[in-house]
Amino acid sequence: MCGVFGVMGHKNAARLTYLGLYALQHRGEESTGIVSYDKKRTYSHQGMGLVADIFDEKAIKSLKGNIAVGHVRYSTTGSSLSSNIQPFLVKHRSGHIAIAHNGNFTNTFELREALEERGSIFQTTMDSEIIVHNLAYNKKLNYQTKVINALAPLEGAYSLVMMIDDILVGARDPHGFRPLCLGKLEGAYVLASETCALDLIQAEYIREIEPGEIVFIKDRNIESIKPFPKKKHAFCIFEYIYFSRPDSNIFGKNVYLTRKRLGAQLAKEFPAKCDLAMAIPDSGSYAAVGFAEEAKVKNEIGMIRNHYVGRTFIQPSQFIRDFRVRVKLNPIKDVIKGKRLAVIEDSIVRGTTSRARVRTIRSSGAKKIHMRISCPPIKSPCFYGIDFPTKKELIAANHTVNEIKEFMGLDSLKYLSQEGMLKAMLLPECEFCTACFSGKYPTKIPKKFSKKMLEKKGKC
Ligand code: 5GP
Ligand code: MG
Repeated sequence: MCGVFGVMGHKNAARLTYLGLYALQHRGEESTGIVSYDKKRTYSHQGMGLVADIFDEKAIKSLKGNIAVGHVRYSTTGSSLSSNIQPFLVKHRSGHIAIAHNGNFTNTFELREALEERGSIFQTTMDSEIIVHNLAYNKKLNYQTKVINALAPLEGAYSLVMMIDDILVGARDPHGFRPLCLGKLEGAYVLASETCALDLIQAEYIREIEPGEIVFIKDRNIESIKPFPKKKHAFCIFEYIYFSRPDSNIFGKNVYLTRKRLGAQLAKEFPAKCDLAMAIPDSGSYAAVGFAEEAKVKNEIGMIRNHYVGRTFIQPSQFIRDFRVRVKLNPIKDVIKGKRLAVIEDSIVRGTTSRARVRTIRSSGAKKIHMRISCPPIKSPCFYGIDFPTKKELIAANHTVNEIKEFMGLDSLKYLSQEGMLKAMLLPECEFCTACFSGKYPTKIPKKFSKKMLEKKGKC
């Protein structure tokens, strides 16, 4: 997962990008970067770490020009390299190109091989670099044709924000896996992964970039094209369940209200005999509101999150993850003791964090623990940009719900049904990618690609 942001036509382009990335931090904590351009040269500042740590006043001031693009990157152990920080920047005889990419191409290996045959030398393990090589290939073409030619062979997921000299380009793959939206601030156009980034800079939300659409923004003009054949939409349903920020609107709907509907649906399908409902914060909090409302039980706060620690899942090493589980959440024993609880969580991936939480709740004196999960069991890996582990590590791919219940030491465990999840979306079922639950992938997944991906290389 990653977050992308771009501004064209504003004197504070880099500062706005910094703020935009700040709002998108949840999409990736590993590295971040901003590239700007002042019609003479490009400026770049990047590093491994959080937006607030990498950029200071001096760095922001050094990023001159009225166009800027930025990126926050989420990565796995294998690709945790500083050379993989985005935006990916090249100064080429045909211009300055900077690319910020969210998603994963599924035909990376064929494309890379073909380019290497042609003489390209790759600098990174990122799939996004393919675009640069394609863009730089035919310098005689105009920039629109170059972009179309560069994106045409790509398969899989991409929401892109690119800077080609003084043109800001936004593009979303024809399936529309990842979100990307367009806003406006003081006459300048802004592109962002999620609307929460527009809110922070007080930009007006204009619309989503549509699946298969490319926009070219020069000065304060925007041109939109849809050069590719239409494909079946495949909006990532997990963006709603976990990944996007609840104050964002993606794919036309608010994330918080969607999570609340998921919780309500969960209560309809699997009510629990309980004294109170409580969420595992923060990710379970929104579904818990809907669950409690529908089940007509009290929604209590039973655990407090220490906000000074980052997302546990994002840390690549197992040692740190276990430590962070303990440091991050503390139960309120006086709320939990002697109670029958409905414990609401958004999802279970490996099962290790949830198990540790259940143990903590149990040791705080809970009488019964009925865990309710606001999505179905995750059984298949994601090849489109969500950092799910291999099938081997996905607990629901290898164990029945009853086995998971036993493993976690629960009194009951229920997952929302696939039908129930789709019902809560208020969009037709055919609009979504549900591959992680259903195993039905909306695109071909080449064997070589899936094998490499599962070894976790070059992933964004
Ligand atoms: P598990 O019990 O599977 O070890 O961890 C489940 C927790 O991980 C849940 O709280 C869920 O919110 C969180 N989670 C699910 N998917 C992701 C993800 O892709 N990234 C991060 N950071 N956390 C996730
Ligand atoms: Mg969570």
